[in-house]
Amino acid sequence: MSMGETIAAIATAIVPQQGSVGIVRLSGNDAESIGRAIFHAPGSQIWDSHRILYGYIRDPRTQATIDQSLLLIMRAPRSFTREDVVEFHCHGGAIAVQQVLHLCLEQGARLAQPGEFSLRAFLNGRIDLTQAESINDLVGAKSPQAAQTAIASLQGKLAHPIRQLRGECVDILAEIEARIDFEDDLPPLDRNWVKSELTRITSAAQSILTTADRGELLRAGLKVAIVGRPNVGKSSLLNAWSRSDRAIVTDLPGTTRDVIDSLLVVGGIPIQVLDTAGIRETEDVVEKIGVDRSRKAAESADLILLVLDAQTGWLEADTAIFETISDRMVILVINKIDLVNQASVYGIPEQFHFAQTIETAASIGQGIEDLEAAILKCVHQDRLTASNLDIAINQRQKACLLNAVQSLEKVQVAISDRLPLDFWTIDLRSTIRALGEITGEEITESILDNIFSRFCIGK
Ligand code: GDP
Repeated sequence: MSMGETIAAIATAIVPQQGSVGIVRLSGNDAESIGRAIFHAPGSQIWDSHRILYGYIRDPRTQATIDQSLLLIMRAPRSFTREDVVEFHCHGGAIAVQQVLHLCLEQGARLAQPGEFSLRAFLNGRIDLTQAESINDLVGAKSPQAAQTAIASLQGKLAHPIRQLRGECVDILAEIEARIDFEDDLPPLDRNWVKSELTRITSAAQSILTTADRGELLRAGLKVAIVGRPNVGKSSLLNAWSRSDRAIVTDLPGTTRDVIDSLLVVGGIPIQVLDTAGIRETEDVVEKIGVDRSRKAAESADLILLVLDAQTGWLEADTAIFETISDRMVILVINKIDLVNQASVYGIPEQFHFAQTIETAASIGQGIEDLEAAILKCVHQDRLTASNLDIAINQRQKACLLNAVQSLEKVQVAISDRLPLDFWTIDLRSTIRALGEITGEEITESILDNIFSRFCIGK
C-alpha cells in the first residue's frame, strides 16, 4: 500500500430512506484538490482547515448538481489519518452518497479497503493498535458497558500500562546487557532487584489478563435458547423479558427466512435469544414435539432456559427434551407458578441437575429479575468485575500478554538456575516483543492485515 495515495469511502451506514446525513470521506495528498474539483462553495467562503463550507457537489464534466452538502477540510497533520482529510456531509440515503463517492473515484481517488483510514492513523502514529481495535469495538458494541470498555481503551487505558511495563522490561534488559558488555567496569547485577522487578511486572500483566473474560462476554455476549414443551410459556417468557425495563431488544434477521434472533442486554452482557420465530411458532409439527428444536438450540447456545409448566409438573416429554440438552448449562424455569400453590411439588426427577432453578409467572411478568440474576450467576458475574480495571482485553491482546507472562517466568527460571546472563536476555526480549505487539510497536504485516480487515469500509 502506498501512503499518500488518496482513498475514499462512505463513512456512514447506507440504509435507504433512513439517516438524514451521509458522509463521504477522503484521505491523502489529493483529498483537497478532489474536493475543490467537485464542490462549489458560493460566495466568499474560505477553504481553510477545520472549517465547514456550505455548497453544492457538481459533476465537473456535466455540471449537473449531485447534492447540496457541507464540506469539512482537515489538513495534515491535524486529522484522524494525519493526512489531508476532506469530508462531504451529504444527504443520507443510498443515492447521493454513492454518487459523490463515484465522483471522488473519477477524480482519482481509490476506494478504501476495510479499516484503511484507521490503518493509516496507526501507521502515521496517530493511534496505537489497542486504540485502533477499540474503535472497532465501539462501533460494534452491543451494550453500554461494552461501549464503555471500548472508550476506556480508546483513551489509552490499556496502551498506557502496557507501554509502561514494556519500558520497565527494556530498562532491566539494558542493565543486564551492560553487564554482558562491560562486566568489569560495573558493580555486579543485583539479582534480587531483577527478580522482584520481574515479579511485579508479571503480576501487573496478570491483573490486565483477568479482564479478558469480561472482554469476551461483553464483545461476544451469550447465546441463549428457550426450550420446552408447547404451551409451557416460552414465548410468554420471551415477551415478558423483552418488555422488562432493563431490556434493550432488537430483532436480528436470521440466516434463514423465518429465523429471528432477539438481542437483549443483561448486566451489560448482550444476550442473543436464538430463533425467536421458532419460539413463537407453535403450530409447526416439529415444534409440537419440541425435542428437535431443543436439540438444534442446544447446538449453538451457551445457555439454555428449560421452561417447565408448573401446573402439569414434569412429564415424560420434559425428560425427552432434557435428555437432548443435559450436557449443557441449563436453567430450569418453572413457569405458571401463579396457577399453583406454594407447596407444589413438580416431580422433577432427582437425578437431573440444573445450573439454577427459578420460578416465573411469565404472563404477568413475574420472575424476570430472578431469571436475569440466575443468568448472571451462571456466567459468573464476578468475571465482569474481576479486576478494578475498566478495560477489557480481546483475544489477540490476551494471547500476547500470555506470551509475555510465560517469557517472564522463563527469565525467573534462568535466574534461579543461575544460567549465564545471555539466557536471561533471550526471554526478556520475547517479553518485550510480546508487549510491543499489543500496542503495535512491534508488529508484522500479517497481524495488521488480520486486524484491519475486520473493520468496515470507511473506518
Ligand atoms: P409456548 O408454546 O411455550 O411458547 O407457550 P405460550 O407462551 O404461547 O403460552 C401458552 C399459554 O400459557 C398461553 O395461553 C399463555 O397465556 C399461558 N401462560 C404462559 N405463561 C403463563 C403464566 O406464567 N401463567 C399463566 N397463568 N399462564 C401462562
